[in-house]
Amino acid sequence: MAILEEPIKEVLELKNYINGEWVESKGETKDVVNPATGKLIAKVPISTRDEVDAAVKAAQEAFPDWRTTTPLARSRCLFRLKESLEEHFEEVSRIQTQEHGKTIDESRGETRRGIENVEVACGIATLMQGYFSEDIASGIDEWVIPTPLGVFGIIAPFNFPFMIPLWSAPYAVATGNCVIIKPSSEVPNSQTRLTELADEAGFPPGVWNVVHGGRTVVNEMLDHPDIVGITFVGSTPTAKEVIYRRCGETGKRVIAQGGAKNFMVIMPDCNVGKTIPAMMTSFFGNTGQRCLSGANLVIVGEDDNFYNNFMNAITEATSKIVIGYGLDESVQMGPVRDKEKKERIIGYIESGIQQGAKLRLDGRERVKIIGDYPQTCFLGPTIFENVTPDMKIGSDEIFGPVMSVMRAKNLDEAIEMCNASPFGNGQAIFTSSGKNAREFQYRVTSGNVGINIGIVAPMAFFPFSGMKDSFFGTLHTQGREAVRFFTESKVVIQRWL
Ligand code: NAD
Repeated sequence: MAILEEPIKEVLELKNYINGEWVESKGETKDVVNPATGKLIAKVPISTRDEVDAAVKAAQEAFPDWRTTTPLARSRCLFRLKESLEEHFEEVSRIQTQEHGKTIDESRGETRRGIENVEVACGIATLMQGYFSEDIASGIDEWVIPTPLGVFGIIAPFNFPFMIPLWSAPYAVATGNCVIIKPSSEVPNSQTRLTELADEAGFPPGVWNVVHGGRTVVNEMLDHPDIVGITFVGSTPTAKEVIYRRCGETGKRVIAQGGAKNFMVIMPDCNVGKTIPAMMTSFFGNTGQRCLSGANLVIVGEDDNFYNNFMNAITEATSKIVIGYGLDESVQMGPVRDKEKKERIIGYIESGIQQGAKLRLDGRERVKIIGDYPQTCFLGPTIFENVTPDMKIGSDEIFGPVMSVMRAKNLDEAIEMCNASPFGNGQAIFTSSGKNAREFQYRVTSGNVGINIGIVAPMAFFPFSGMKDSFFGTLHTQGREAVRFFTESKVVIQRWL
């Protein structure tokens, strides 16, 4: 048991980054505590309205020059940021573990996916090209120019503190816009370190800004007349009732990615040996705090033998998960982000018992952790059987290491169960039949579909999709869709006189 060196060694007093300067906030501060060790690692400000205003003003003033900077010159800043992130790869990964609790390998995966978005945005010179038609009528040509719009707000959740703003920010600035990032106040450190590196990469003052805080800062951003659009990732109630609704009222363009309740469907013809490891990362990776994590496991067919063998294998694998501080490389699952989240998850476990589900593995009991750390945020993995979709553990987003196992007679019934959920973020099927796989991906109402793979986040050059209560908007973050979101199509028609 060797703990990797912690990059944050003393309590950081975080500042906002406005107009290329680190500026102390006048707002109150909130403690950021490492969920594994219980140590205070930072104090984050809840910024004031004036500070949001100052960031918007700086971004607005930077916009005219930045939008006329050539795309290649803009991408050079991103190339430098990418190089610098590679140099500091391990440091930024460890910061994520320190502030969030995830294992170091999960943090490294998050850093890699964040960097990949910067890499994709580096290709902006071709990604942002318009198109042209000659002779739409005699002597008349028509063409489209994608143009940047101004100042965008980027609002992030707690579960991927480093990566999620990078689903948007690189594309926004590459296309010539300026950004104000509002990290989750629960995990503001890796975004702060990323911004120090963005500062060194040479973005002109005002192009890349960070304003810390919580919902009051979000409200200021939503009301601000000079912010033209918002990308948001977080829970469904905030995405739907706050972000999407208010952007509609104020005429801002919007991407609002919400919560999830994902189904993993196991067909009796699946390759069990390869399916079990995929289940482990899906259900318990990031301690279940992923919008693409498995939540409901649906085992299809009436063969009790298959069911019992599958459940035995999955229970055995789950019981072996090593829990502890994520900076120990032997640890496979870290704590949940904070005590309140742990209590919320325990509330769901209690509701499962009350509603008649069978508790096969109780994560409240099995919290043997490696190392000497307070138990405050640690939970073991939980498995429930005999779950039905109407139980709270079968329908609500728990956002913790809890697997709810259901049975379906056949594929039709399994697909109906998936589609009855109000969420539509990710569903997966495990099968060796091409017909079953095709049937599933065709009929399931979900933005992301896994076939023989636990749902992994789409690559940076694919959209991060979602349907129903998991997504509000039209275009998605990442790749070409992000480039379209951050630009308006200007259509020009010219008669040659
Ligand atoms: P959250 O909705 O509580 O917070 C997200 C952001 O909104 C934070 O920056 C927070 O400060 C702000 N906020 C919270 N409540 C607000 C309010 N009432 N008014 C204005 N702003 C508010 O979400 P979270 O707990 O930080 O993140 C977890 C959620 O994010 C889960 O539901 C998860 O499924 C979802 N998520 C979705 C995706 C996706 O791609 N669909 C990806 C990651 C996480």
